[in-house]
Amino acid sequence: NKQVILKHYVTGFPKDSDMSVVTKTMKLKVPEGSKDTVLLKNLYLSCDPYMRGRMSKLDRPYFVTSFEPGSPLNGYGVAKVLDSTHPNYKKGDLAWGYTGWEEYSLIASPLLLIKIEHTDVPLSYYTGILGMPGITAYVGFHEVCSPKKGESVFVSAASGAVGQLVGQLAKLEGCYVVGSAGSKEKVDLLKKKFGFDEAFNYKEEPDLDAALKRYFPEGIDIYFENVGGKMLDAVLLNMKLRGRIAMCGMISQYNLEQPEGVHNLMQVVGKRIRMEGFIASDHYDLYPKLLELVLPAIKQGKIVYVEDTVEGLEKAPAALVGLFTGQNVGKQVVVVARE
Ligand code: NDP
Repeated sequence: NKQVILKHYVTGFPKDSDMSVVTKTMKLKVPEGSKDTVLLKNLYLSCDPYMRGRMSKLDRPYFVTSFEPGSPLNGYGVAKVLDSTHPNYKKGDLAWGYTGWEEYSLIASPLLLIKIEHTDVPLSYYTGILGMPGITAYVGFHEVCSPKKGESVFVSAASGAVGQLVGQLAKLEGCYVVGSAGSKEKVDLLKKKFGFDEAFNYKEEPDLDAALKRYFPEGIDIYFENVGGKMLDAVLLNMKLRGRIAMCGMISQYNLEQPEGVHNLMQVVGKRIRMEGFIASDHYDLYPKLLELVLPAIKQGKIVYVEDTVEGLEKAPAALVGLFTGQNVGKQVVVVARE
C-alpha cells in the first residue's frame, strides 16, 4: 500500500520534501470481527488549502487537527468500497469523503463518507464541484451572502476549486461578477470559460484599491473572501453600504509566521458590513440542494468545471504544495487509480 507520509511538522512555506512516499504491505480485506469498517480503494484525492494548517503543530483549538508526523496524510477523496462490514456500504459502492493519502484505506466508523449516486458526471468532480469545495461555494454565496439580481460580486482566488463555482453561481443569479487570479491564463479562463464579466491579475496591480475602483465604480455588494491580507484591506475600502463578505479563507496568510494585520476594519462599522465566517463541513445537510442546483447545470453545460490533475501518489506532495504558489489551474486533483 503506497502512502504519502508527513515527515515532520512544517513552518513557513511547505515543500514537497516535507512529505515522502512509502510502501507498506497490507491485506486487502476487512479484518475478521471488525464492525462498521470499510476497506476503500482510493481513486481521486483532493488537494485543499486547509491541509496546510494540519501540517503544523496546532496547539490552539482550530477547526481541524494536526496530521501525525510519520503517518499518512488524510483528507477528502473519492473511493471504491472493496470490502465492508458497515451496514451502509457494500463492495463496489462509490463514495466521497474523508480517506487516507494512500492507495487503500481501512477505516473504522468513517467520520464522513457520502455514497455517490450519480455517476454520469466525472467521478473526480466529487473532490470539487460535487464535493466539499462545491458545498463551500454554495453555502458561502447563497446562505451567507443572500445575493440579489443585479448586485456586484467580487471573488478572489477566482479560478480555483471554490472560486470558479462562486463566479458561475453569481452569474446564474444575474449578478455582475469580477474575479482576481494570479496569471494571464487564469484571467482568460475567468472571462472566456466561466463567464465572469471582468477579471484581473492581482500580481500585476500595484494598487489594488485603484483596480477595484476601476471594476466597481459604485462599490461591491458581495465579496467572497478566499485570500485575505492586502486584498481584504483594499476590498473593505470599496464595499457598499450594507455589503456582505463571506469569510471563506485567507490563503495568503497560511504560510506566514505572523499574519498580516488588517487596517481598514473600521469600514465594517461605518458601512454596516456583515462579515461572516463559515466552514463547509457544518453544512452537509445542504448537500442535496447543491446537487439539485449543480448537476442539471453541468449536464446542460450551464456550469463548467476546470480541474488540474496529476497522475500518481508520487506527484501528490508537489501538487499540494503547488496550491500556495498558484501552480494549479482549477481544482487540484491527484489521480490514484481511475477504477
Ligand atoms: P484554489 O483551488 O483556489 O487553490 C489555491 C489558489 O490560491 C492558488 O491557485 C492561488 O491562485 C491562490 N493563492 C495562493 N497563494 C496566494 C496568495 N498569497 N495570495 C493570493 N492568492 C493566493 O483553492 P480552493 O478553491 O480549494 O480554496 C480557496 C479558499 O477557500 C482558500 O482560502 C481555502 O482555505 C478556502 N476554503 C474554505 C473552506 C471553508 O469551509 N471555509 C472550504 C474550502 C476552501 P492564484 O494564481 O490566483 O494566486
